[in-house]
Amino acid sequence: AKDAGRGVVRYFSSELQSEQEDRVRLEADIRAALESRQFHLAFQPLVSAKNQKLVGFEALVRWNHPKRGFVPPNVFIPVAEECGLMGPLGDFIIEEACRAAATWPEPITVALNVSPKQILPSLPTVLSQALARYKLPGNRIELEVTEGVFIDSSSRSLDILGRLRALGVGIALDDFGTGYSSIGYLNKAVFHKLKIDGSFVRDAGTRPGNVAIIKSIVALAKDFRMSVTAEGVETAEDFERMRELGCDTIQGYLFGKPLSYERANQLVTGLGAR
Ligand code: C2E
Ligand code: CA
Ligand code: CA
Ligand code: CA
Repeated sequence: AKDAGRGVVRYFSSELQSEQEDRVRLEADIRAALESRQFHLAFQPLVSAKNQKLVGFEALVRWNHPKRGFVPPNVFIPVAEECGLMGPLGDFIIEEACRAAATWPEPITVALNVSPKQILPSLPTVLSQALARYKLPGNRIELEVTEGVFIDSSSRSLDILGRLRALGVGIALDDFGTGYSSIGYLNKAVFHKLKIDGSFVRDAGTRPGNVAIIKSIVALAKDFRMSVTAEGVETAEDFERMRELGCDTIQGYLFGKPLSYERANQLVTGLGAR
């Protein structure tokens, strides 16, 4: 029994150790990827629920590692956040999103995701400098933040979000309803949009509870004069349901997967018109 006990302990510690080694390697690879520009942005179309016209894109970071291949953002973003690399990665994402947006006409907007770790007092300056560099009006950029920004120092986060709004950019509350409760922050007037998570959208046909949640989100948004985007719309039925429930914009594989800049640009210029 003593031996078995020791064996178990050894087993756990070596497993932990190799997990630790994996993370250290991933961290080193992220660092190297920043240096050698292995990251790029993909652009997923957003369309108006009214007429299905293209209104903008969500920029999503992509990493093609020479050996690992495609690494999903759900894997490397948390590691970048923990090891202090979200600053440089976030700056790159801001730069690339502004650069793309500046090549497209009104009213096409580009939404970019901002990690809670990027909500720092320097962020409004970083963003305003990028806007100035590309001569881009603030209203062509939207920031998507999650409820996580309010977990610690919520008053500081609100202050920073307010300064970002003052640049004219939109701020969407992403994955609304899936995380930390943020309903109380809606009356602080920093958000212009709520995004409904795809998990509510995709099962709405079979789960009446999801329809009830979506109805409440839409009602909340209207009361606070915010618009609503439904994401994860994969079928014509999903689209019709979300339109009927009062969503303003729609995003999902039905209208397009995240695209390369070139493909996105074809959609804008009409070459890729559906
Ligand atoms: P998110 O911000 O909620 O992004 C939406 C995710 O849903 C994207 O996954 C997108 O490709 C996927 N999606 C869009 N339409 C559909 C659909 O119709 N069906 C299905 N099944 N999925 C759909 P992705 O690109 O893998 O990103 C996952 C998450 O990683 C994002 O969730 C976001 O939290 C984070 N992320 C991605 N790019 C960035 C970034 O540039 N910065 C930061 N901070 N986070 C990012
Ligand atoms: Ca998002
Ligand atoms: Ca989302
Ligand atoms: Ca999500």
